[in-house]
Amino acid sequence: MSEIRSQALNALLKPRELERPPRITCILPAYNEAENLQQMVPLLCEVLPNLSSDFEILVVDDGSRDATAGVVVAMSDLYPVSLLALSRNFGKEAAMSAGLDHAEGDLVILMDSDMQHPVEMLEVFYQHWLEGYDMVYGIRADRSDEHPLKRRLTHLFYQALSRSAEVEIQANAGDFRLMDARVVKALRALPERKRMMKGLFAWVGFRSIGVPFKVNPRFSGATSFGLRRLSSLALTGITAFSSAPLRIWMIIGIIISLLAMGYALLVVLSTLLLGSDVPGWPTLVAGIGFLGGMQLLSVGILGEYISRIFAEVKGRPVYLVSDYIRSSKTPSAQSE
Ligand code: UDP
Ligand code: MG
Repeated sequence: MSEIRSQALNALLKPRELERPPRITCILPAYNEAENLQQMVPLLCEVLPNLSSDFEILVVDDGSRDATAGVVVAMSDLYPVSLLALSRNFGKEAAMSAGLDHAEGDLVILMDSDMQHPVEMLEVFYQHWLEGYDMVYGIRADRSDEHPLKRRLTHLFYQALSRSAEVEIQANAGDFRLMDARVVKALRALPERKRMMKGLFAWVGFRSIGVPFKVNPRFSGATSFGLRRLSSLALTGITAFSSAPLRIWMIIGIIISLLAMGYALLVVLSTLLLGSDVPGWPTLVAGIGFLGGMQLLSVGILGEYISRIFAEVKGRPVYLVSDYIRSSKTPSAQSE
């Protein structure tokens, strides 16, 4: 698989001229990742200095039940790692938003804390940023490690999304990405509460490039994204970026009405011409059952959109911060 560049804007691509080493903020959303972070943070502190001497790691503790927060605070004496602790588990999308809202870097890196996103890619991402790209994202080149059913469903989801969504959401592109500060600024301005970040990244646009990478196995622990959480995220994705599920009922309604009219005409004609009496109940039962099902389905879809509207008008914040502990090792803390 080769790199994927956004078509628009790339004519304006211009290598960046740096006056000083850019400040990098690396955001790690973490839910029960104490063991993984003990590997991940030292590893990042070996790799990030190759990009810039001015870097900070920001761990967003998404209401973990294990020692995640304690581990991060303990490490903050040794490494430039800060802790942003949310008041409970808000989910990965909210944790990433919290990280983006608190990131101070000229460029921001988002990656998982479970070692699944290879740190070797960061250098490649950074080179593309230097070339002038505002957003560099990883594309999963290979999903053979996943269950075939999950792979199939993911494929169907991306297909449905690409046909109906108002923006092009790159298939197999995840949350592993590097962003320029102006992309982060654009993302912060989006007030949506029920978020699918992948969609929002695509929505903001800017000069983007996708780079294929291979996902590593999880270092320790288990994934928090089971079928239920994934399908809820998929539903958020579809309802947030497409109104096709609402519109489709108009077309289905027209087709069913036409069919019903045709059938009525057929019944009238056959009674008049052939004089056959009409054994009505089987067709009635089938017709009522079919229409009942269709109506419930369409009401359900309406309900899905209404529940989104409900969530938005309540206006509750996407996340709440309980503690923000800055490391004394961050370059900004040292220069103060
Ligand atoms: N995560 C989070 N909040 C959650 C669930 C997950 O911040 O409620 C983080 C998790 O710690 C990890 C990343 O999101 O850094 C990806 O989660 P996971 O590995 O469970 O998902 P998968 O890699 O299977 O998609
Ligand atoms: Mg993972």
